[in-house]
Amino acid sequence: MSVELRFIGTGDSESFDYYNTNLLIEHEEKSLLVDCGWTAKRALHDLGIGITDIDAIFITHVHGDHVFGLERFGFESRYVHNGYRIKLFVPKSVFPLLWDETLKGSMGYSSDGLNIMQDFFDVILVEDSFHWQGLDFQLFPTPHTQGKPSFGMRLPHRFTFTSDSNVIPHFERLVENDVYIFHDSYVAGEFHPAHATVQEMRDAYSMELLKRIRLIHYDDAIASHQDKLKGFAGWVKQGEIFQC
Ligand SMILES: [Zn+2]
Ligand SMILES: [Zn+2]
Repeated sequence: MSVELRFIGTGDSESFDYYNTNLLIEHEEKSLLVDCGWTAKRALHDLGIGITDIDAIFITHVHGDHVFGLERFGFESRYVHNGYRIKLFVPKSVFPLLWDETLKGSMGYSSDGLNIMQDFFDVILVEDSFHWQGLDFQLFPTPHTQGKPSFGMRLPHRFTFTSDSNVIPHFERLVENDVYIFHDSYVAGEFHPAHATVQEMRDAYSMELLKRIRLIHYDDAIASHQDKLKGFAGWVKQGEIFQC
């Protein structure tokens, strides 16, 4: 049964034009949202998709363009949509950062009094894999912001999504024969402490691998950087759909 991948956003954390890099996975009439940044509600609304159309959310790491939308999804599912429950898959190491250090300040107290994360979502803590709708997603740690746990995900033989990451050691071995490879990219300059530059990918990965890589999480000037993207499979357009 095929899986449909649709990037509801493809931009970096500063992007106005392409929204946050968040991925919608649709399978057997259900939707899994991978990351939920501050543009997620608007990006889904543009596609005619509401909060109650989302069955589950997976969080790769704690940065605003990946988690700030959860405040809306949590409050609105509970109070506007009559206690609608979204499954929230979170890596164990990410959860304390997500609730205690990020969302609790806003969501930890409401008109019902003190809250915990489970008052808003069906929280499922995961380690190196999780199961959703008959699909087994594999997780892998990514080098992103030093000291902050962050993860990419794979559906073996179908796709790899790095979320935010610098170049990944042994990436070629990791992605095996996956049909689609979506890789974080910093195209605008020559150095970035948290995101893989195009040159760093050229230095670390083989030409065969570059040919399979589709770039995501880019800046608003991506269209003017075409000369830098030679040798890659290209850059993912916002809203583009991949079947795998
Ligand atoms: Zn990001
Ligand atoms: Zn990030």
